[in-house]
Amino acid sequence: FKQTINLSNRYDEMGQLAESFNRLAHSLNEVEQNRNEFLANVSHELRTPLSYMKGYAEGVEEGIISKEKGLGIIQKEANRLDRLVNDLLDLAQLEGDQYEIRSEPIALAELVDEVIDQFNLIAYKKDIKLLRHLNDECIVYGDADRLEQVIRNLLDNALTYTPGGKQVEVRLEQKGEDVTLLIRDEGIGIPTKEIDAVKQRFYRVKKARERKDGGTGLGLSIVSQIIAKHGGTFSLESTENVGTTASIHLKGIL
Ligand code: ADP
Repeated sequence: FKQTINLSNRYDEMGQLAESFNRLAHSLNEVEQNRNEFLANVSHELRTPLSYMKGYAEGVEEGIISKEKGLGIIQKEANRLDRLVNDLLDLAQLEGDQYEIRSEPIALAELVDEVIDQFNLIAYKKDIKLLRHLNDECIVYGDADRLEQVIRNLLDNALTYTPGGKQVEVRLEQKGEDVTLLIRDEGIGIPTKEIDAVKQRFYRVKKARERKDGGTGLGLSIVSQIIAKHGGTFSLESTENVGTTASIHLKGIL
């Protein structure tokens, strides 16, 4: 009798062990699949500007394309490649286990103000009104360079995906410990079913993919990573053809 119990315990244990092995194999498979998918995406994204550059260089050499036009396009694609490699390096660094974010007190309104100033000319040229409502007293612990990158990426998107004649508003508020940064635009918006996907690496909504001056599709992944490293939250709310609001919540100093 004792032996039967022991045996049945053994069977249970073996069953559990087999199940854990299966689960492990499954998640390893998933990791492998994600890695392959990521590499395929990276190769595709790197290859596109490279083939443009090769094509136009050949075109100029053979006299089919004017030197001026060819060189202009080669320069534009080289810049795109540069942005892509920088964004990829940033993501690799942020996603690494060893990466520790700097933690220094930052006067957030000052930082936001500086970034808005950098975008004033672009907004003016596009005829977009850039409004700011900033609480001067918000102080957070964090990495100023990384938070600047977050604000830049979000403002860049707001201005890119908003047509002329509309407005973009940046709001910084604090209630208790909760510091909120909102970037609200009146642009093309994001379809509801794609709102989570746009935070994934390389994901771009069809309308954005069709644009000539396309971004890298890595901006929001970088924003998500940086905010997560600060222990904060990042969310998007959007209605197509009405606008998008990007919200960031961080813990402020009282
Ligand atoms: P990209 O370099 O393409 O801007 P992001 O990761 O910053 O990459 O954004 C991913 C996609 O999310 C964009 O291609 C665009 O389709 C959509 N998107 C992001 N921000 C906005 C916005 N403010 N309004 C409309 N669409 C947006």
